[in-house]
Amino acid sequence: MENLPNYLYIAASIFFIYGLKMLSKAETARKGNMVSAIGMLIAVVATLILAELDFKWILVGAVIGSAIGASAARLVKMTSMPEMVGLFNGFGGLASLLVGWAEYHQIAGGAESDLFKLIAIGATVLIGGITFSGSMIAYAKLAEKMDGKPILFKGQQILNVLLLLVMVSATIGFCMAPASAYPIFFGMVVVSMILGVLVTIPIGGADMPVVIALLNSYSGLAACAAGFVIMNNVLIVAGALVGASGLILTSIMCRAMNRSLANVMFAGVGATASGGGKTFTGEAKTVSTEDVYLMLEAASSVVFVPGYGMAVAQAQHAVKELGDLLEENGCEVNYCVHPVAGRMPGHMNVLLAEADVAYEQLVEPQDVNPTIPNVDVAVVIGANDVVNPSAREEGTALYGMPIIDVDKAKVCIVLKRSLKPGFAGVDNPLFFAQNTRMFLGDAKASITAVVGEFKS
Ligand code: NAP
Repeated sequence: MENLPNYLYIAASIFFIYGLKMLSKAETARKGNMVSAIGMLIAVVATLILAELDFKWILVGAVIGSAIGASAARLVKMTSMPEMVGLFNGFGGLASLLVGWAEYHQIAGGAESDLFKLIAIGATVLIGGITFSGSMIAYAKLAEKMDGKPILFKGQQILNVLLLLVMVSATIGFCMAPASAYPIFFGMVVVSMILGVLVTIPIGGADMPVVIALLNSYSGLAACAAGFVIMNNVLIVAGALVGASGLILTSIMCRAMNRSLANVMFAGVGATASGGGKTFTGEAKTVSTEDVYLMLEAASSVVFVPGYGMAVAQAQHAVKELGDLLEENGCEVNYCVHPVAGRMPGHMNVLLAEADVAYEQLVEPQDVNPTIPNVDVAVVIGANDVVNPSAREEGTALYGMPIIDVDKAKVCIVLKRSLKPGFAGVDNPLFFAQNTRMFLGDAKASITAVVGEFKS
């Protein structure tokens, strides 16, 4: 009986690992989420048993957290989910930092400690503080409360290294005389938060997918460190799993952008006023609903390429309806999702799954690109950076990122409201290409109008 919480923690960890594994495939992702949630329930029950049913404070926290979560779920729009995820990462880091603080408060009050615990507290403060303030910057950039351009200044990296050294020396001082180290502890909190801001501001808007994945990983590492502070096995395991899966996601995002992590973190790509690249002028050929209907009606293969604009317009259901009508018309329909499309990893996949698009119809850019010259119509729905051919040219914020080659399809129809550039601020020559037709307007209204033409 004494070991029951630990057995339950092992069971919870197994659920987490299986859940994570299932999350790696679209077909099993929903079940994976459920399996992980069951794991968390088991972990919570085990922790309550460990707390010897004295869970007054746990209850207070749970009530406040549930109230905030429930109102966020009602008040936050689907399009604001990415910045919400950014905030959640930050609060995860802050929660770990507070766990470290609470533990240190007891030590400062005379409670026993050992070197291992003190180092774990130092790590919790460092990683938790960086995660919190870095996530706040990521939130501000994603919510467009702050300019997405990288903020660079002379000696930035030297300052970062110096602050890191200050942090390490402070942790050593703190470990040597913990009982009287409250001023040092506060200094560590402040320096870690400054570091979080300084490492995030040089990263440009187009590189935010990497930052979000990395901050997610940091929030896991902070939780893992907090687990060592309070010696809670399941917190150590869950934190390590989040840390590791966040790192894997970071590497996937870097690969999707064909960039190294060091290049994303330190190069300040996109620091120029416009995101770099040429300015394109000329006449974009606009089309009407009827023109689009006629092109699609005659097509035998269509690839839909969704982007952030589909999320803004909430056009996924209309897109699926159009896809179904095209299939009924004998057309082969696929959906090609770029890994960094939208504003959070998996953003487009979530929307398409919500609209019940079959998993078999989701195709990877590397599979579509070689055959795209045979595609009759590529329909770009509110995507911009991920189909911008400027990514093939040096000197732009997008340079090197593999794109979906919609410009090589027989015809490309682009749905957006204007000719403005995308998130990275790089002008898009696709709009002026010979085989491109601009279908201007809100994506949902435009697609719904085409669906109406098909039905009539
Ligand atoms: P994007 O480059 O941000 O472009 C989205 C386009 O959607 C805009 O050009 C906008 O043009 C259009 N749009 C907005 N509302 C619309 C509406 N109601 N109807 C129709 N169109 C609408 O999108 P993307 O191609 O998906 O590229 C994603 C970008 O975000 C990349 O630069 C990526 O690095 C970055 N990012 C991604 C993540 C991630 O994790 N996936 C995170 C952060 C940042 P108009 O204003 O002319 O309509």
